[in-house]
Amino acid sequence: MEWPIYLDYAATTPMDPRVAVVLGQCLGRDGLFGNPSSSTHILGRAAARAVESARNHVAALVGVDPREIVWTSGATEANNLALFGVMRAYVRKGRHLVTSQTEHKAVLDVCRRLEREGCAVTYLASEPDGLISPERVAAALRPDTVLVSLMHVNNETGVVQDLAAIGALTRARGVLLHVDTAQGAGKLPLDLRTLPVDLLSLSAHKLYGPKGVGALYVRQRPNRVRLEPLLYGGGQERGLRAGTLPTHQIAAMGEAFRIAGEDMAAEQARIRALRDRLWQGLATVGEIALNGHPERNVAGILNVSFAGITAEALLAALPEIAVATGSACTSAGNEPSHVLRAMGRDDFQARGAIRFSLGRFTTGEEIDYTVEAVRAAVNRLRDLSPLWELRRRGLDPEVDWAAT
Ligand SMILES: *Cc1c(COP(=O)(O)O)cnc(C)c1O
Repeated sequence: MEWPIYLDYAATTPMDPRVAVVLGQCLGRDGLFGNPSSSTHILGRAAARAVESARNHVAALVGVDPREIVWTSGATEANNLALFGVMRAYVRKGRHLVTSQTEHKAVLDVCRRLEREGCAVTYLASEPDGLISPERVAAALRPDTVLVSLMHVNNETGVVQDLAAIGALTRARGVLLHVDTAQGAGKLPLDLRTLPVDLLSLSAHKLYGPKGVGALYVRQRPNRVRLEPLLYGGGQERGLRAGTLPTHQIAAMGEAFRIAGEDMAAEQARIRALRDRLWQGLATVGEIALNGHPERNVAGILNVSFAGITAEALLAALPEIAVATGSACTSAGNEPSHVLRAMGRDDFQARGAIRFSLGRFTTGEEIDYTVEAVRAAVNRLRDLSPLWELRRRGLDPEVDWAAT
């Protein structure tokens, strides 16, 4: 086994070696180093071909026209471009936006900024299982609603939203739908030929590509979505995102998305079997609770709360395992996860939550080691825990730990 055991694929993934090869081919004097906008010579044109080939791979994975893909520096920028871009372009239609309390900060922080610019934002609550009910979305729509922004797969819990139902109603009401699928693309089938999504944020580094590159899909048909750009400059990407295209990043993202499309079903089945093995192993620890939906989830994410202990203490006891409390972005602060709080978990449950995320290079051996190490650490910590002692004596604060 390689150490530490990496179970934090939802924070980022290592690059697939095949992707690293493609990236390396775009850097040096003997490679595709030309500026893709330099159409006057063969080096520029070769780089442009690599960029367009990557655009085809990314577009194919989600069933869109390559001309609808805009390269960005990642899903964060794609979310910023989608939300600022649409709200600024449609001011005459209205200034209301609907999102949920369980979104990634790369949507929530943009919404806070839009509020300061005069937009009204509705933050929908989630059900206890993490789902955003289409009925609540419908009820939040107003005559001045321009945009609904909801994520496809939650990065902390793995919960998968019902995009078909939500898209059907936004389309019927003439409201645009933006979806952040940084955690879903390449893991779940996604076909925008049939799914009524208008803008889609993508990231390479959650799918075995490099960090610092992503894309925004912007629908052109049946109705063209208008966007106000964030960056002005050389007019690249049809004026929607100026800046010299990073050929190495883009070609690598294309290769990562091509590989993901190749055997998504088989890979996800393998990862789901490992996740089930992890969950069944952890269940023998006793008094654990699943944070998420029992069926509507992505294969690679398992979020579990352990009664009577804090996640920080558990992580400190397991330095050989790389896992997360909440998301990478929120675990920097010491706040309990805003996602788990929005799902109605109390402070104790939220502070006892660990996110295990599995991926392409996870092995059964690693899962078996993890189960045993977690079991031993939880038992040790519970023996020392005053909370656990209270609980044993039936005096614990009102925590409803789902039996396993
Ligand atoms: C990782 C992530 C992001 C940020 O993507 P970057 O490419 O790192 O900017 C946004 N949304 C979700 C759901 C994510 O998981």
